[in-house]
Amino acid sequence: MQDPPIRAAEQAPEHTENEGSAVPRRCGGTNGDGSPCNSPFVLPSGFCISHDPDKEHERKAAQQRGGMRTASRKRKGLNPADLPPLETLEDAQKWSAVIAKAVATGELSSGQARAVQIALTTWMRAHDMIKLRTRLERMEKLLQQKRGR
Ligand SMILES: [Zn+2]
Repeated sequence: MQDPPIRAAEQAPEHTENEGSAVPRRCGGTNGDGSPCNSPFVLPSGFCISHDPDKEHERKAAQQRGGMRTASRKRKGLNPADLPPLETLEDAQKWSAVIAKAVATGELSSGQARAVQIALTTWMRAHDMIKLRTRLERMEKLLQQKRGR
């Protein structure tokens, strides 16, 4: 006498799946190549995890959170008071020393240190160029004065 109700309960999930319901059994999303997704692993929205519109927002939010974490990690750099004004080659030397120390102690990432070293190298090259140009201009003036006499 108790068999029929149990059987009905066992059959219930299969029954609704065959008949279909408000929730589609296959993902309604479209793949990158334009073909229908048809994934059987659908969420209540009727889409699979990679096509669900709500999950899309969650993914983007997670990416943004990750980006913010990365940015805040990058922002942590040197105290400006640790660095002298960059005016002479001796200053550039001091900068290199401070940066070497900061990398060694983990205050700066190796990427940040590399970026600063590139900037320093560029600065030193420009510094040399300006120095050379000034000397050249002085020599040209001297030469003109000699010729003028
Ligand atoms: Zn899908």
